[in-house]
Amino acid sequence: MTALALQRIVKQVAELPVPPHLLDYDKTCADFSWDSARRWLDGLPENGGLNIAYEAVDRHLLRGCGDKTAIRWLGKTGARRELSFADLAQATNRFANALKTLGVQPGERVFVLMGRLPELYVALLGALKARCVVTPLFSAFGPEPIATRAEMGDARVLVTTPDLYRRKIHGLRARLTGLQHVIAVGDETVEGPGVHGWNALVDSCSPEYTIGPTDPESMSLLHFTSGTTGRPKGAMHVHAAVLAHAVTGRYALDLHDEDVFWCTADPGWVTGTSYGIIAPLVNGVTNVVVEAEFDAQTWYGVLERERVSVWYTAPTAIRMMMRLGVDALRGYNMPALRFMSSVGEPLNPEAVVWGLQAFGLPFHDNWWQTETGGIMISNFAALDIMPGSMGKPLPGITAAIVRRTANNSLELVTDPAIEGELALKVPWPSMMRGYLHEDERYKKCFVQGWYLTGDLARRDGEGYYWFVGRADDVIKSSGHLIGPFEVESALMEHPAVAEAGVIGIPDAMAGEVVKAFVAVKPGFEANEALRRELLGHARKRLGAAVAPKDIEFRANLPKTRSGKIMRRLLKARALGLPEGDLSTLESDERPIADGAHP
Ligand code: ATP
Ligand code: MG
Repeated sequence: MTALALQRIVKQVAELPVPPHLLDYDKTCADFSWDSARRWLDGLPENGGLNIAYEAVDRHLLRGCGDKTAIRWLGKTGARRELSFADLAQATNRFANALKTLGVQPGERVFVLMGRLPELYVALLGALKARCVVTPLFSAFGPEPIATRAEMGDARVLVTTPDLYRRKIHGLRARLTGLQHVIAVGDETVEGPGVHGWNALVDSCSPEYTIGPTDPESMSLLHFTSGTTGRPKGAMHVHAAVLAHAVTGRYALDLHDEDVFWCTADPGWVTGTSYGIIAPLVNGVTNVVVEAEFDAQTWYGVLERERVSVWYTAPTAIRMMMRLGVDALRGYNMPALRFMSSVGEPLNPEAVVWGLQAFGLPFHDNWWQTETGGIMISNFAALDIMPGSMGKPLPGITAAIVRRTANNSLELVTDPAIEGELALKVPWPSMMRGYLHEDERYKKCFVQGWYLTGDLARRDGEGYYWFVGRADDVIKSSGHLIGPFEVESALMEHPAVAEAGVIGIPDAMAGEVVKAFVAVKPGFEANEALRRELLGHARKRLGAAVAPKDIEFRANLPKTRSGKIMRRLLKARALGLPEGDLSTLESDERPIADGAHP
């Protein structure tokens, strides 16, 4: 356990408003098998096999849940749309038929580029019904990141809006030689080769469609990683992954029939697909989709008005809410909210506990990657939380801390004080089946039946996993191995700190020394006195060997579109090195006041 662990949050299961699905962790793990969990799903009744869209949508109609709201869409300007499971079944059937009309074949790639509009959800699920491979992209991507991914992924069809088409795609058409069809949402006429208006094309198609035989091992989604550590990789997933979505929705997010679920992630990031679309629908719950971007008041309004009961968000958003303080929540009443969780980056212990102050509930951190397709390590509703820990492995997942030895074999680390690489025993249904066009890189991830995640962690005596850092980000200073997360979390404990990013700077004596970039909360001044105070605070909390030697203030830190601090960019800039692939950079850092830039 790290020195930073705040007090354990003890769960009284009898006091929880709903009994959690996973009550006895050890027994569930012991009894669990993916083969028997497969019975939670139906499989295709007519043609056989397993299709994500059938499990997410159509099968609920046979259970008499057709009228239940599947997607509750809340538009930016106050518009609302409710799509029942029956509506969604028909709409996705129409879309699958539209692809057929265009002659699009199973296995061909359909890219989706738009904000969180209802058509995004219809297109993605409809294309899965047609057994096409879907890649959702962030609508805020510029033309270059779109072109690179579309070329790499061999996009045959693109679903987008007229505005995005004109601004970003039109100029790329000559370059995207494989792109045959563009479906532009709405009825506006858009000029361009192979461009079809959604309304004319899709709405005129039949709402009846029979999904063809779908091999569970056939490709379903191609997802690009966040690009936090380098050029984004294309992770290839298959239809069988839906089993992991069903299981994690039930055990890690504790979804129950009557829940109203909200995942704040955009489908351009794997969380927004696995949990913003598939997991809640497979579990038959109502899924709230919010078109607007983050704004604390908007979000609190959604939680209250829509009576969200299970909420899945990310550390960056939580830190932004913390920046505004608990006062911003005054006047909101959220009696329905019962379970909150977070993913994407390490969740600082301060943030877990802030959840208790602000919402009366802790945030449950969980860990996974684009590559793993679904949640692998999680804090569960019935289990105590150790703030700062990612939790325990999902039933069905065997995790370990390992070290690679010189002859490329593995050594298991059992000492809770020693960190090593987080490894997961293969296989499980949602594991990627390859990196697009990067076979060697894919093969290198596996050693002796383990998938090596590239993240460093520790496991304590109780079996909780503690994130240390990405292997690339870990700092080696005077013989110590320092994880940026530990240092960032210590800084976050100081009332002035809104966010922190920590890197190693080469040093002749120590090898590397720790440097921190810090953004302060409103009401605090980023001055020399505060800098000294923070250096002192960190030294007291971490000891001189681990504490930062230097702190620079920033108005904010550079982040990916999926909300992760880009430490590699802080480092490249600090060292004057090339900045590398910036295609996923969303908010760049802003210098403070005088504009000093490293
Ligand atoms: P790239 O692989 O392109 O550098 P990325 O790793 O950020 O980008 P994702 O697949 O979106 O792309 O993110 C997975 C990574 O995010 C994990 O490997 C881990 O480093 C980090 N992460 C996710 N959840 C957590 C968590 N709960 N605690 C700590 N780290 C997390
Ligand atoms: Mg990664």
